[in-house]
Amino acid sequence: MNRYARQMLFNPIGEEGQQKLADSSVLIVGAGALGGVIANQLARAGLGKIRLIDRDYVELTNLQRQILFDEQDVEKSVPKAIAAKNKLQASNSDIEVEAIVADATVDNINDLIQGIDVVLDGTDNFSTRFMLNDICFKHGIPYSYGGVVSSRGMTSFFIPEQTPCLRCMISEGAGDGQTCDTVGIISPIVDIISSYQVTETIKYLTGHFKNLRQTFKTIDIWSNQQFDIKLAQPKKECLTCQQHIYPALKKTMNEEATILCGRDTVQIHKKSEMNLVKWKERLETIANVTRTPFLLKAQFDNNIDFVIFSDGRVLVQGTEDIVKARTLYDRYIGS
Ligand SMILES: [Zn+2]
Repeated sequence: MNRYARQMLFNPIGEEGQQKLADSSVLIVGAGALGGVIANQLARAGLGKIRLIDRDYVELTNLQRQILFDEQDVEKSVPKAIAAKNKLQASNSDIEVEAIVADATVDNINDLIQGIDVVLDGTDNFSTRFMLNDICFKHGIPYSYGGVVSSRGMTSFFIPEQTPCLRCMISEGAGDGQTCDTVGIISPIVDIISSYQVTETIKYLTGHFKNLRQTFKTIDIWSNQQFDIKLAQPKKECLTCQQHIYPALKKTMNEEATILCGRDTVQIHKKSEMNLVKWKERLETIANVTRTPFLLKAQFDNNIDFVIFSDGRVLVQGTEDIVKARTLYDRYIGS
């Protein structure tokens, strides 16, 4: 019996489409909530090669929505990429899964996209998303975008030379700073958005271009709202898909984050200003926060403190590990 029999019975895929999937390679950036559902669906569908990168390890609060992990992964603090690979290969040993435990940055993204047909977004922050958008449009690789927080999600399938790009649809830095770690998340929205990301990827890889959705979709499953913005003309001044400047590929990780030696602190400077009153309100629900006229100090229960200055600098105290500091920053501050 062929394990893909039911999928091949679906007429648009058939035997030919199944072979195309087997011959394809994808990069999934982030193996958490979105990345986990994406990887699970693609592995079971018989996607030939899955390259998976994630910088984090499994924690108890992940299990509510990150379907590839279990309590044993939490006990052993297994890196998400490794735990994900183990589960994926257990469900399908015919495919190749490559797990990379690292932060996807401008320093390694060129290597990561080698031989890749589609990049799928399972990240939790816009600086990585704009980098993925830029590298994909630079190299002509489709970018399956998805983002979720609270009960809301957004998704689109961007194709270089054919559709506008993420930068045409969202201005960099325009995010409202809400993250799953500050306003929460319910898991059904994860499954919905990642399922859209996978469906468009399968349509593309099996050559069903006419069936691609061609919209930027926004869904709120709690307040029952749904919008589709047609992917029409790119913005003329777009620095990515029109002017080919790719600004997100020019920043380096070290420009944004600096280790303050001997102080067990990493400074991250990504925003040009931060309103201390607003950030106090936002962080109060998850940390012990004190404000002085000059700074805000937020103490989290994992022995990490954030010191936030109104010029946008954030000191992550309690670590000298840049990747860990960036992970915590994206969790609590977002982008
Ligand atoms: Zn664009």
